[in-house]
Amino acid sequence: MPGVGPCPADILIVGEAPGFNEDRQGEPFVGAAGKLLDTLLARIGLSRAEVYITNVLKCRPPMNRDPMPNEAEACSPYLKRQLELVQPKVVLILGRHALERLMPGQGSISRIHGSLVKRGDVAYVPLYHPAAALHNGSLVAELEHDFDRVKAYLEKLLAPPPPPVPVAPPKQEAEQLRLL
Ligand code: URA
Repeated sequence: MPGVGPCPADILIVGEAPGFNEDRQGEPFVGAAGKLLDTLLARIGLSRAEVYITNVLKCRPPMNRDPMPNEAEACSPYLKRQLELVQPKVVLILGRHALERLMPGQGSISRIHGSLVKRGDVAYVPLYHPAAALHNGSLVAELEHDFDRVKAYLEKLLAPPPPPVPVAPPKQEAEQLRLL
C-alpha cells in the first residue's frame, strides 16, 4: 500500500472472511454476526468508530465455506500490512481461523477463549466468533463473559500513564527556599 501512512487505533478486531452482505457493501461485519458484534462492543462501552475491524480473508469464499489455508496465505500480506499501519495495542481474534493465522499452534479456541496473550508490545485476546454464537446460543453467554474480561484488560492496557512524580529539589536549593 504505497503512500498509505499509519492509521493508529488501539484496538484491532480480526474476523474470518466477508460474508454475502460484507462482500456487497465492501465493509466487514455488516450482517447478522456484525449486529451481535456491535452489541458486544456496546456492552463494554465501545462503538465501531473506536475500533478497526478486518478479516483474515479479503474476499468471500464460494458458498460461504471455511477459508482454505492457501487462501489465508494469499491474503496474509494484506493483514500483515494492516497490522503494521494500524499499530494496535490490543488485537481481538474472532474465531478459530483468525486464531490459526495470528497465533498458529496456540490450541483450540474453546480452550483459550477469553485469555490474554502478550506478544511483544501487543496483547491478543482470542474470542469465539459471533457467527458461532448465532448457531449455538449457549456461546452468547460465553462471549458476553469474555467481552467483560476484555473490558477489564482494556482498562489496564489502555490506561493513561500516571503523572510524573514531582522530584524533590536538591538539598541546597531546599535550604535556600526555606530561608526566603
Ligand atoms: N464474519 C466474518 O468473519 N467477517 C465478516 O466480515 C462477517 C462475518
